[in-house]
Amino acid sequence: MTATVLDGRALAKGIREDCAGRVAAFAAAAGRPPVLATVLVTGDEASASYVGAQGRAASKLGFDFRLVEVPPGAGTEQARALVAALSAEPAVDAIVVAAPLPRPFDTYAVQSAIDPDKDADGATAYNQGLLLAGRPGPRPATAVAIRALVEATGRPLAGARATVIGRSLVVGKPAAILLLEAHATVTIAHSRTEELAAVARTADFLVCAAGVASLVRSEHVKPGAVVIDAGTNPVGSGENSRLMGDAAYDEVAEVAGWITPVPGGVGPVTNAMLLRGAVELAARRLGPT
Ligand code: NAP
Repeated sequence: MTATVLDGRALAKGIREDCAGRVAAFAAAAGRPPVLATVLVTGDEASASYVGAQGRAASKLGFDFRLVEVPPGAGTEQARALVAALSAEPAVDAIVVAAPLPRPFDTYAVQSAIDPDKDADGATAYNQGLLLAGRPGPRPATAVAIRALVEATGRPLAGARATVIGRSLVVGKPAAILLLEAHATVTIAHSRTEELAAVARTADFLVCAAGVASLVRSEHVKPGAVVIDAGTNPVGSGENSRLMGDAAYDEVAEVAGWITPVPGGVGPVTNAMLLRGAVELAARRLGPT
């Protein structure tokens, strides 16, 4: 293997330490801990386990973490009403909807009921608009994590070529905007892209966010490129179940200069960035101290 491994867990640890300081400062100024509420539709094991881990991490940092459960039969309108009620609750500082919600929920419609000032994952149209306009505001944690991992390599983004594979609202599009903001020349590839390997191979920074295990092979990677793999794809079953990224790790690591592992790359940094986003919103609500 030739690539240097980008250790997401180590990066996340530093972000959490910074976050703990911010949580303590908030608590000292407000006389209460910051409140993060996460809305979860029950019944989806993967989402429940992800939210459980998020809640434990938040509590450890000093947040008052509130899990708000929605029954799977509730429907979009009921879930929206619940999110709107949380938004109106003065004691709640930050809200996350554990997305994607299972069918037939309309995830975007439910997220849109979050007060933009409490939107920890930058999921509302208002905050997406701020992102597009290059204005400060809460930004999607996964995209922020991707950019932080890119920056951890120390390689300059300005003028470099970046390709993002995936164009979802949650990962691909915001990641592309953040790379563009750092003056990279950005290409967004997707399922209709022709000659994906050739398009990907132009990139000095290759972000994989397709959700397809082993989509990215050695022929997709420019020698020495930075590969940030956001894909988390469950493979196997029972005792043999595990998570795989979008990159075929062993062969891509032979070509890339830097690579994020799965698990242990984008995931932990995303979790830490979400908590940082939440405490930033809480501090903003408190005003200057
Ligand atoms: P998504 O909404 O399903 O979007 C996938 C994107 O990839 C789409 O734009 C799709 O293109 C594109 N795509 C699918 N197959 C492709 C192919 N064969 N070639 C090129 N492009 C292809 O998924 P998402 O929510 O963005 O998530 C993407 C991955 O990131 C998933 O594995 C998810 O679990 C993971 N994820 C990780 C984190 C984290 O913190 N690590 C957070 C969120 C998501 P079209 O638009 O043309 O359909």
